Amino acid sequence: MLKYISLVLLAAFCLNASADELVVYTSRKEHLIKDIFKQYTEETGVKLTYKTGKAAALIQTLKAEGNKSPADIFMTVDAGNLWFASHEELLEPISSKILRSNVPFNLRDEKGRWFGLSVRARTIAYNPKKVAKGELTTYEGLADKKWKGRLCLRTSKKVYNQSLVAMLISELGKKRAKEVVNGWVKNTVEIFPNDTAVLKAVASGQCDAGIVNTYYFGRLMKKSPKLSLKLFWPNQDNSYGVHVNVSGAGVLKTSKNKEGARKLLEWLAGRKAQKSFAQVNMEYPINKLFPESEETKAWGKFKPNKSFNLSSAGKLQKEAIKLMREVRYK
Ligand code: FE
Repeated sequence: MLKYISLVLLAAFCLNASADELVVYTSRKEHLIKDIFKQYTEETGVKLTYKTGKAAALIQTLKAEGNKSPADIFMTVDAGNLWFASHEELLEPISSKILRSNVPFNLRDEKGRWFGLSVRARTIAYNPKKVAKGELTTYEGLADKKWKGRLCLRTSKKVYNQSLVAMLISELGKKRAKEVVNGWVKNTVEIFPNDTAVLKAVASGQCDAGIVNTYYFGRLMKKSPKLSLKLFWPNQDNSYGVHVNVSGAGVLKTSKNKEGARKLLEWLAGRKAQKSFAQVNMEYPINKLFPESEETKAWGKFKPNKSFNLSSAGKLQKEAIKLMREVRYK
């Protein structure tokens, strides 16, 4: 009898152990997720383990592991990467009222395979000592001859720029988008490997303006507040608004605990988690109804682009890459 009871207890314990555990594969840096995952474990008792790496490498690992993968959730940055994971048939469509109401329509997959969890804007950073008031207007404006020799850009290999160009194709049509990107390339002094290098080049006067993600500006200014750098919000009046993108996540098809995985996503998109999840990286909450940080508030209000559904960022990715290659954007 005693043996029987202990067997039942052991079985119950084993079942529980798998139900109360989740594995996240993520391309986010450990310091951006560690505390929030700890908070979830404290609140719910669900143990979270995670594996970090580059998005493309994690997708390859997931494909290689197949059904044997221990992972429940894939978390990464940029809708382009999330789209790619869904395109590779890795993500399960999730139906959740909470996720549908907390994550705006344009910031999630139309089939529920991934959801944005924080927002970043890809906007113009400029040197106020070198750019006169009124000179900056729109993304298209940076293609004008008057910006010749004044721009710095990040490499076209980065998914952030591929998504930005995908947005331009969607908003302006292929022909006009190509003219714009071609103009940028002609006006560019140097192509850099990352956003921070672009910002430093602008601050040092090597060029006058560049296009970067907002949190890189936030990080750099926190370290060196005296830099001659400012953010500009383009395409505000009678236009489509500033290009925004997300960090986000989806539930894996091979997860053995899809309900638990969905609950974690719902929690991450909820009011309590949103505060720390977005703020730790100086990003914006996924929904305007949630509070933003003092830091991002100080950069001023702007109209974000809402007409470009981020699901399309992935669909137009190939076209964006082709377009950039055609205008020799390195
Ligand atoms: Fe980034």
